[in-house]
Amino acid sequence: MNNTNGNRMTALVDIYGSNVFNDSVMRQTLPKETYKSLRKTIEEGSPLEPEVAEVVASVMKDWAISKGATHFTHWFQPMTGITAEKHDSFISPTADGRVIMEFSGKELIKGEPDASSFPSGGLRATFEARGYTAWDCTSPAFVKDSSLYIPTAFASYTGEALDMKTPLLRSMDALNKQALRILRIFGNNTTRRVITTVGPEQEYFLIDKKLFDLREDLTLTGRTLFGAKPPKGQELEDHYLGQFKDRIVAFMSDLDTELWKLGIAAKTKHNEVAPAQYELAPLFTTVNIATDHNQLTMETMKKVAIRHGLVCLLHEKPFAGINGSGKHNNWSMATDDGQNLLEPGKTPHDNIQFLLFLSAIIKAVDDYADLLRVSAASPGNDHRLGANEAPPAIVSIFLGEQLTDILDQIEAGGATNSKSGTLMHLGASSLPSLPKDTTDRNRTSPFAFTGNKFEFRMVGSMQSIAQANITLNTIVAESLCQFADRLEKSKNVQKEINAIILEVIKSHKRIIFNGNNYSEEWVVEAEKRGLPNIRTTVDAIAAIRAEKNINMMEKHRVLSRIEMESRCEIQYEIYIKTVNIEAQTMVEMSKRQILPVVIKFKADIASYISSILAVGEDVKIEKALLTKINDSMMSFSANLAKLEKAIDTAASLHGDTKAQAVAYRDLVFKTMGELRKDADNLETMVDANYWPFPTYSKLLFNI
Ligand code: ADP
Ligand code: MG
Repeated sequence: MNNTNGNRMTALVDIYGSNVFNDSVMRQTLPKETYKSLRKTIEEGSPLEPEVAEVVASVMKDWAISKGATHFTHWFQPMTGITAEKHDSFISPTADGRVIMEFSGKELIKGEPDASSFPSGGLRATFEARGYTAWDCTSPAFVKDSSLYIPTAFASYTGEALDMKTPLLRSMDALNKQALRILRIFGNNTTRRVITTVGPEQEYFLIDKKLFDLREDLTLTGRTLFGAKPPKGQELEDHYLGQFKDRIVAFMSDLDTELWKLGIAAKTKHNEVAPAQYELAPLFTTVNIATDHNQLTMETMKKVAIRHGLVCLLHEKPFAGINGSGKHNNWSMATDDGQNLLEPGKTPHDNIQFLLFLSAIIKAVDDYADLLRVSAASPGNDHRLGANEAPPAIVSIFLGEQLTDILDQIEAGGATNSKSGTLMHLGASSLPSLPKDTTDRNRTSPFAFTGNKFEFRMVGSMQSIAQANITLNTIVAESLCQFADRLEKSKNVQKEINAIILEVIKSHKRIIFNGNNYSEEWVVEAEKRGLPNIRTTVDAIAAIRAEKNINMMEKHRVLSRIEMESRCEIQYEIYIKTVNIEAQTMVEMSKRQILPVVIKFKADIASYISSILAVGEDVKIEKALLTKINDSMMSFSANLAKLEKAIDTAASLHGDTKAQAVAYRDLVFKTMGELRKDADNLETMVDANYWPFPTYSKLLFNI
């Protein structure tokens, strides 16, 4: 190893987590007793004594100041999908006119931001405007931009969750509780906690900031609302896993450093299929921390990109006709003593346990496919799911040939064995240790088993992963709960386990699909199987209000009826606002940018025509072009008027969010597509020097 490399390695070890108040810092800086009780709170959720909080706050403040912090902020995740923060300085004046730096246990534990400007979906009307934030000590505090960031949950004063983190923490508890019941049935009395592990792979685009700034659609909505198909797209597939350009290398190395400082284990990076598209994957960690880290990753990507004259686009579909971006949510369950519950075992005993957990997931995904679908629903993601792009809107599970084969064997053998009640020999006891499916053969499945974890691929690139994981945790907890209820009562546990697995295979195998999810045949087949195909967010939202889903969420104390209802409202509101902003932006760009240049171009051709007519030359070609432009322009103007009218109609429906969302989808969004077609058509005819904003070719191939 040469010297430069060596230095970089030492540097990495030094910077990794250097801005995080992590376990090793806590152990070094906190008094022994304080450290012990804080660990107990972190690991077992036991309440934190005020005296302990006082000591932790003071030590944390000193550490933060040593890292350059002057302020602290409670950092939380309201339903906007992005994070929120409000900074206070540590400064406290003294009687003699000086200041000292102070930070109390109370300030650490609880904050009181005004909740009235965050989405509450009607909760605000019923409850007080005040909200409070509560320290989540299971996700470590960190220093960023001269502030100490304290991860917190955000709730209304009466305790209703107003954020993503609160239900996520509750769902972790629900899963833990039910999974432990199952482990106890298997004779495991040593595991103290079951956690969810998550590693989200993040896709994103990078484009030149100078070009970005020239497009109002990108600056206001994060995606291009216009843009003709470029002569070159992604057909050559010359970008995927290709070499990084220097500018991108500089960005990525800067990004890695920033993420490592925050203790985010950014590990893999590569070019994606689309031009200008990239992916970053971290090492997996506890779902709660993974969620915080993913939010931080997205924020850091945007910030670091600017430093390099780039803009990071996190929108699910920045460019029509080019692959969109998603987030692969790798999800598994693990015990505090290091067992991955989705790792097929080597012994029959382990295998049967694995198969039971697997069955719980299969059942959960089938029973609550609609909830999983809505957990990945957003206006941006509508351009991917259900729009003939990866992955489709139909939820199904890819298990791979080997595992599917084992389930088939159990189904066949189990039927004949069920009477004798003996342990299923076929399948379970012969279940081989499955090689990890590193080739990732089925990239079209929305929910794929990849050797020792599931990969939920529907999540949008811009979305928080919280909703997906709240859903996964809770629906799997529900399956496990039903199993545990039966098993705890059973006189013959072995036989009952076999019966459960067999039942799940028989009644839920319709959700398993190993074929090509993009094919038309699958759409037909899925319908035959009775699987829902929910194409749009507006339709998906209904699941949040479905009685069966509310009951299940309430049963596990993850979300109450009123919280579910408010989330339903929030989702409609977000849809309405997003489409409205996009439509208004289109109108503005059409009127103030596109129409004027088309008129100017037309006028120039016309005067050119009269000038050469004067010298008696032929103007057939020029006239033909003029006619074509005229036709497109007429259609463009008509659709522009139609869009303005659609916006008015949809806007007038306020008061009924669902009806309004439907109108925005069926009138506004639809007309936007028609208007775009005309504009893109004009773009291909108008002199490039006239066109008012950078084209797709420039945006995608100019780095
Ligand atoms: P692949 O590229 O085949 O999807 P990787 O091993 O590269 O597989 O994993 C992709 C993501 O999955 C990474 O973020 C990784 O940390 C995460 N991951 C791996 N194992 C687990 C697990 N047991 N639980 C959750 N996430 C995991
Ligand atoms: Mg993957």
